[in-house]
Amino acid sequence: MNKHEMWEYVEKIEAQFHDLSDRIWETPETCYMEQKSMGAYLSELEKNNFKITKGIAGIPTAFIGECGSGEPVIAFLGEFDALAGLSQYPNMFQKKPLKEGGNGHGCGHNLLGSAALQAAVAINNWMKDTSTPGTVRFYGCPAEEGGAAKTFMVRENAFSDVDIAITWHPGCLAGVVKGSSLANCRVDFTFEGKASHAAGAPHLGRSALDAVELMNVGVNYMREHMSEKARIHYAIIDGGGISPNVVQSNARVRYVVRDETSIKMLNLLNRVKNVAKGASLMTETSVKIKVLAGVSNLIYNPTLGSVMQRNLDLIGPPNFVGEDYRYATKMQATLDEKEIENTYLQAGIEPLRGQVLGEKVIPASAKIVGMGGSTDVSDVSWVVPTVQLWGANYVIGTPFHSWQMTAQGKSNIAKKGLTHAAMVMASTAYDVIQNKEIRDNAWLDLRKVLDKQPYVSPISIKSSPPIRDMST
Ligand SMILES: [Zn+2]
Repeated sequence: MNKHEMWEYVEKIEAQFHDLSDRIWETPETCYMEQKSMGAYLSELEKNNFKITKGIAGIPTAFIGECGSGEPVIAFLGEFDALAGLSQYPNMFQKKPLKEGGNGHGCGHNLLGSAALQAAVAINNWMKDTSTPGTVRFYGCPAEEGGAAKTFMVRENAFSDVDIAITWHPGCLAGVVKGSSLANCRVDFTFEGKASHAAGAPHLGRSALDAVELMNVGVNYMREHMSEKARIHYAIIDGGGISPNVVQSNARVRYVVRDETSIKMLNLLNRVKNVAKGASLMTETSVKIKVLAGVSNLIYNPTLGSVMQRNLDLIGPPNFVGEDYRYATKMQATLDEKEIENTYLQAGIEPLRGQVLGEKVIPASAKIVGMGGSTDVSDVSWVVPTVQLWGANYVIGTPFHSWQMTAQGKSNIAKKGLTHAAMVMASTAYDVIQNKEIRDNAWLDLRKVLDKQPYVSPISIKSSPPIRDMST
């Protein structure tokens, strides 16, 4: 079986993975609650004779499926979590939740895990067919959105014997992810004061809500004095209740602190913690600080990146046809010019006027642009040479975490991009498995980074996956 025959095999088996993606889309579960989605994967892994290990890093919805034996060990990373509040009717051209306030696959993780498994199954089939030695693993990685399960999986050495990790993320234009991403952490600040009658005895009360407000003011003043790349956002999780006539004795604010590297992010977090302590001092309340999750910045691996780029150039873009363009034109009409332009800005290429689908791949010559947000793939990229693809699954301009992304999750274009991503990933693995020099060079790339800056986990050794905290 040569590479072309393997591509044909990827296409031949696509129906089961398109179906898997649809099933995941239909049961959108968030942050460590992905029981049904995990069930769908486990049955698919069993069907394809993968050996299953559950409860990776003590996380109930993290699992590994494994095939083959010996070296090299190739990991395909699959995500499958959804987002809160992004429920949406499929293939509809206006915002309409399928379930009011429900979850939805607004980041395409229904496609993500499915294509990663499709690639793993195809590579395993090729290895068996050609008696090529090696181990293929599918990593079921939950809670990418906010829970950063991979950081905990890395801390518990789930990747310690992996040679190369391959993954992708659905998007609008197919290309190799070359830019970095921001390190971040998610931290809860819980203030405790003293309740009292807000009119009768306000002098006896100490307001936890005041503390939250003062902390936010303090952090907002800090923005002038932090690096341009840094980002800080917050949400008041608990405002202390609904009664203005009670001095609120408890309040909680959740922060996300981001910066270019884990070290910079941890330094910035210390400053935020000091502001919280200041707010507590001002209000005579106490504050408890709990780090829920954290991710590092992404390390690009040039050796693996060029192998993936070569395969992407060879394969070309997904094969979109007339009806795909008609669908895409209607969906693009729901987006504004700035959103459309943003797709190109993020890809590092000039906008192509009138283009509705990713009919060209992002060339090797594209400007390297950071990912903007954060990803827990980053922590894997610090311990194993990792390569990541952007898929061409959505209409040009579709923003991440939007109703339009959920709406397109079951469309033909999304599924064409799914199989396309599986093909590029399997093709990359095909080269990596057969060529030890690629693997050695990829490790040299990573060691060069680690020589300058060893990996610093963005979470402490004591913190545990925020399984219950995130469901509130
Ligand atoms: Zn995502």
